[in-house]
Amino acid sequence: MPKVEFLSALAYARNATQWVGLRYSRESTQSREVRNDAPDKNATSLDEGVMCEVLVDGHFGYAATADLSSAGLKRAFDMAIAATRATSSHKVHGFDDSHRAAVQGTYESPTQTKLAATPLALITECLLAASKAMAIDAKIVNRAARAMVIQTQIDYFTTSGTHTSQSFDIVDIGLVATAAQGLQSQSRSWSLSGQHGGEVFVPAIFAQHGLRVANEALELLGAPNCPSGRMDLILMPDQMMLQIHESVGHPLELDRILGDERNYAGWSFVQPADFGRLRYGSPLMNISFDPTKQNAMASYAFDDGGNPARREFLIQDGILKRGLGSVESQERSALPGVANFRSASWNRAPIDRMANVNLEPGTSRLEDMIASVDEGILMSTNRSWSIDDYRNKFQFGCEHGRLIQNGKLAGVVRNPNYRGVTVDFWNRLSAVGQSDSTYGTPYCGKGEPSQVIRVGHSSPPCLFRGVEVFGGQS
Ligand SMILES: [Zn+2]
Repeated sequence: MPKVEFLSALAYARNATQWVGLRYSRESTQSREVRNDAPDKNATSLDEGVMCEVLVDGHFGYAATADLSSAGLKRAFDMAIAATRATSSHKVHGFDDSHRAAVQGTYESPTQTKLAATPLALITECLLAASKAMAIDAKIVNRAARAMVIQTQIDYFTTSGTHTSQSFDIVDIGLVATAAQGLQSQSRSWSLSGQHGGEVFVPAIFAQHGLRVANEALELLGAPNCPSGRMDLILMPDQMMLQIHESVGHPLELDRILGDERNYAGWSFVQPADFGRLRYGSPLMNISFDPTKQNAMASYAFDDGGNPARREFLIQDGILKRGLGSVESQERSALPGVANFRSASWNRAPIDRMANVNLEPGTSRLEDMIASVDEGILMSTNRSWSIDDYRNKFQFGCEHGRLIQNGKLAGVVRNPNYRGVTVDFWNRLSAVGQSDSTYGTPYCGKGEPSQVIRVGHSSPPCLFRGVEVFGGQS
């Protein structure tokens, strides 16, 4: 990283502007995939560049470059200044340099073994162990295992004296076994996504999960279809992550509420006047924005505008308190927000994103939740999702269902789905588990030009009363 050139480029651009920032990003990604015991993909990519950010006539503007020479950086700053000056008369809001924090600090993913010191051969060995362990029956027609390991460095410098330096070790692992007979097929999967190092690559553990998902795929293949009707629903953390992401995270993004995303990712049913007032869910619903929670996909100390990350309640005791909006959206909407100004890469300007958005643990044990249900279903692992542009009406499907009858777990059912309307659904929340599990995805999409970013969601198992449940085609 040519820090001397960065600082001299900042000094060069300072004279023509009110404020200047420079964000350097370097990301290396290695993907390995194994299918039916054979390596299927070995890919490596490296992405490195700089985003030049300027404040001119109260307007923020950007230009990016992969040319890290002095001349390349100056060219990018010249372009940013010219474009920002030319468009400043159309700005939606006037800003000043107080809208960029002056901070110094560092962050490093808390791994035991750095990914840089983890042999790729070990990763392939784990994937092969999983694939082999799934080969338990001729009806298992597809055995897939994949791992992506990502090492990211982000440095941010500004003329206010900011310098933050953050490095991330990220893994995204997935196993899936598909069982088929005649026209029927059923898949079962396992995933691990978050900030971890080489310590997660243990072949015996991959084999264990591989054997389990293969057995469960076979069991699903022979299981009856999920029943239809209103009943109690327990969602496990690997479905709760999707429920939180789609029906809490996206509708609370302040840029969506302001209308910035309405011709692309969509709008929101949430209105500015709802903050501080709307009963979003039952009093058991406590949703936090928390980049300080470790090992999740979006753990960090500073967002891409240098704002220090803090844990904040978005929804407390069921009442909507705070939006997912950065300093600029907070200023425009006069609503409280969080440190979530994030960009997908060096060549994208930061926008309002989720980071780690979590449902805080409650006081119920899973066995007590099950014992409290006369007729219901327990669903695990997201399989499909559909939700409207306002993030209001939704329909989600899971891989695995388990009937609950008279307070006891009963048989497995396939193709379990449920539907609801966001606020009505969350007000049906009647028990929250004591301990959470963390899941995430590297593929949350938003913005024009498109930005695909990593998000994390932790949740305990949760019980919802009287939900509309239905099966698939049998
Ligand atoms: Zn998303």
